[in-house]
Amino acid sequence: MASPDGAPHTADAVGAPPAVEQVKQAAKEQQIDPYNVSGGVDENGNVTAIDYEALRERFNTPALTQEHLDRFERVTGKPPHRLMRRKLFFSHRDFDKILDYYEKYGFFLLYTGRGPSSGSMHLGHAVPFLFTKELQEIFDVPLVVMLTDDEKFLYTRNKNQGKITKGAALGDFIEYAKQNCKDIIALGFDLKKTFIYTDYEYMGGHFYQNITEFEALLTNNQIRGAMGFDGSTNIGLNAYAAKQCVAAFASSYPTLFGAGDFRAPNYEEARPRKHIAAIPTLIPCAIDQEPYFRLLRENCDRMEFPAPKTALILSKFLTALQGPGGKMSASDPNSAIFMSDTSKQIEKKVNRFAFSGGGATKEDHEKYGGNPDVDVAYAYLSYFLESDDELKEIEQSYRKGTLSTGELKKRCIQELQKFVEAFQERRSKVTDEIMREFMTPRKLEFKGNPNATAS
Ligand code: ATP
Repeated sequence: MASPDGAPHTADAVGAPPAVEQVKQAAKEQQIDPYNVSGGVDENGNVTAIDYEALRERFNTPALTQEHLDRFERVTGKPPHRLMRRKLFFSHRDFDKILDYYEKYGFFLLYTGRGPSSGSMHLGHAVPFLFTKELQEIFDVPLVVMLTDDEKFLYTRNKNQGKITKGAALGDFIEYAKQNCKDIIALGFDLKKTFIYTDYEYMGGHFYQNITEFEALLTNNQIRGAMGFDGSTNIGLNAYAAKQCVAAFASSYPTLFGAGDFRAPNYEEARPRKHIAAIPTLIPCAIDQEPYFRLLRENCDRMEFPAPKTALILSKFLTALQGPGGKMSASDPNSAIFMSDTSKQIEKKVNRFAFSGGGATKEDHEKYGGNPDVDVAYAYLSYFLESDDELKEIEQSYRKGTLSTGELKKRCIQELQKFVEAFQERRSKVTDEIMREFMTPRKLEFKGNPNATAS
């Protein structure tokens, strides 16, 4: 089947996973973890859309409700970001507690990250950063961004069974991390409140002390269960979870809070570190990262200097161009629109590849209407178009069939081109010097800084 503009059309394949009794041999459940994101496969071999409610139940993460949005607005005096209003950030852990703490003390730590798998980030990677930037502005809080060049190196070597391949030498990941760092800066973060680092550069001192402590808390069985690893997975990847977890501890970054670099042998001297360890952290990320942070939350209070349970705010995935059964991913370039794509490339990719929820023929579309719930151009608009009114109007007219797939794609292309062009303009101004400033550990400036050296 083809949509009115000739885009591939497999709407039949999308929908709720089939009932268990109907599932035949070929059917497969959806798989979501930090290393795999794919919808299920139904009995006819078709990929099904990711079922976020089923995922939330499996991970046991509460829904983000209208009450959270109302409370957010009351506490900050600002309306929630469109990604929150539209429930694209749809789930959380302890978001209420972060708001409680903020009301009392006026700050917390934000932490998010990126695994530099490619020289340019794609639109999906921009999602958590766009949201984080808004949170940083609204709350006026410090932010740490971890670039996991070591993890992407280990993962790729593992996938290639130890072979050195083109574009995947260790130095390549160091370079991707720098390019990605510039991408992140160009999304508009505030230098005074933001520290961006790569694991290969920053890991040492208190950070590394926390890592080894956390490594001592995790077993191989726990890691295998959470990440889907087995005995053939390289040991670096097995150990990596501890690094991504302790990056959430404020005590991994004493310098940012104005504390000295020490780990004192006795309690009195260690007090400043204990004080920093008590700062809570909020992590905005997509839900594939949840397995890491479940391990983190289970072990926060087992550290020598216990940390409060880390709070999470979790998003859905910006879907692959091919449809809602997968996420946009750098490892599959056909699935993604990169932030380095030209306007022409964006136009071509959306027109040619974006899965359409439109009718099979023009006549069908006008008669029965289209389905925005599975339409990729509509999905992208819901992430990037600011106006709620226009989005609603688009949704309704598409459902009615008065808006064609071609027109919907055209509107999507305009909006993505506008976003990417403005980004590229800012990105061209991010010099090596500016990057270095963001990557230098220094005391950050934010209104609630507790000045950790005080007792
Ligand atoms: P890729 O395969 O494209 O490199 P990844 O999952 O390895 O993807 P990371 O850089 O490790 O990407 O992820 C950084 C952050 O971006 C995480 O919070 C992750 O959940 C989020 N993310 C990655 N892809 C998407 C997407 N398509 N939509 C929304 N968020 C995404």
